[in-house]
Amino acid sequence: MIKISVASGKGGTGKTTIATNLAAALSARGKHVAYLDCDVEEPNGGIFLKPTISAKSAVSVLVPQIDLEKCTFCGDCAAICEFNAIAVLKDNVIVFDSLCHSCGGCYHVCPEDAIKEVPRQIGEIQIGAANGLKFMEGRLNIGESQAPPVTRQLKRGMPASDIVIIDAPPGTSCPVIEAISNTDYLILVSEPTPFGLNDLRLAVGMARELKLPFGVIINRSDLGDNLTEDYCKNEGIEILLRIPFNRKIAEAYSDGRMACHQSDNYGENLYRLYENIAGRITND
Ligand code: SF4
Ligand code: SF4
Repeated sequence: MIKISVASGKGGTGKTTIATNLAAALSARGKHVAYLDCDVEEPNGGIFLKPTISAKSAVSVLVPQIDLEKCTFCGDCAAICEFNAIAVLKDNVIVFDSLCHSCGGCYHVCPEDAIKEVPRQIGEIQIGAANGLKFMEGRLNIGESQAPPVTRQLKRGMPASDIVIIDAPPGTSCPVIEAISNTDYLILVSEPTPFGLNDLRLAVGMARELKLPFGVIINRSDLGDNLTEDYCKNEGIEILLRIPFNRKIAEAYSDGRMACHQSDNYGENLYRLYENIAGRITND
């Protein structure tokens, strides 16, 4: 199984367009492909792939529940909680579920065995299929802040297939690291603007820290400046593909249609990109 993650230092670079079209282009050429939407705070790959969903499962985390009959209000649980998720009052203990990171510290320190772990649903996994490819999506409930447990559960359920395309969230924070960790190759999607370059630098730093092999796709490559090209050249970073602006593809995106259905070249270029990456992974 070859796992390729697609990420970007910031939103709006065309990351999901690349991830969904790469998955669809490979599937259309006979590969067994799974697409995982790990952008769990805002999953939108399904808008383009239009999967039929066949199963759903809840994602839960464990949070503390206090037995006030046993509690002596000693304050040990609040003292150990790094996330300020427990407040101990004179005659009550309040747990702020949404702040809890399920670290288990409070259960361990409670001298009265007054805390038990109870599950709390924070999101959902959807499983389905779209035009021959396997589709999975993680969705964090609105108002929740813990994306990594949803991504972890999504990746644990990764279906058997030759190729898995992981659509990571934008940025360089914990949810992105959870999504791209343990993948074989990382595609960073950028755009040739000063903002794009700034965020690309951060994403490159993250990829290097994780020791992930990676390359860059410059989207809308004919708009903007040469700074991204110069940066990649100076840093010895491979530019995998340059995709010029195409009005038909921009219109397709805004209508929720697939770019590879608007232009044969789009899918073919992504397929060749995959062959290039796969050749290196299997030779390593
Ligand atoms: S550590 Fe246990 S006994 Fe102490 S305040 Fe917390 S729940 Fe109550
Ligand atoms: S499980 Fe960890 S994060 Fe949650 S309330 Fe207890 S100590 Fe705080």
